[in-house]
Amino acid sequence: MKIWFDMDGTIADLYGVENWLPMLRNSDPTPYAIAAPLLHMATLARMLNRAQAAGHEIGIISWLSKTSTPDYDEAVTAAKLAWLAQHLPSVKWDAVLIVAYGTNKKTATGGGVLFDDEDRNRTEWGEDAYTPDRIFKVLSSLRAYRHRPENVKEMLRWKSGLS
Ligand SMILES: [Mg+2]
Repeated sequence: MKIWFDMDGTIADLYGVENWLPMLRNSDPTPYAIAAPLLHMATLARMLNRAQAAGHEIGIISWLSKTSTPDYDEAVTAAKLAWLAQHLPSVKWDAVLIVAYGTNKKTATGGGVLFDDEDRNRTEWGEDAYTPDRIFKVLSSLRAYRHRPENVKEMLRWKSGLS
């Protein structure tokens, strides 16, 4: 099973940063860098490492800012990668996708489980999309994933498409 996490409003408190919106509109990546974690990160890291050990794959699917230029997109991507490295240093993500604002997350990832604070993203995803408050509950209920041949093929396709 592939398990995907949104960042802003899901694991990172972007919207809790004072003046986050005018700063993003001004092409300032600072709010992404200084956003506080929304969950207990040591617990999340432990659960993610455990999920991977049980055969699941974990990924980030996060939008760039609505304000977009090549330079700003690069700065936002760097800020998000740095945030993940700072707050979840022990987690080895199978994929980190930082994609254009508004991208359909299901199309971009191929599906699985999604944690996302936005109604629209969960609706587009359909089944197996959850609000951030369900993260620990859902992760703790995951079972070991059996790699049947069709799943291996699917995972290879997934990896090659993302590497
Ligand atoms: Mg979000």
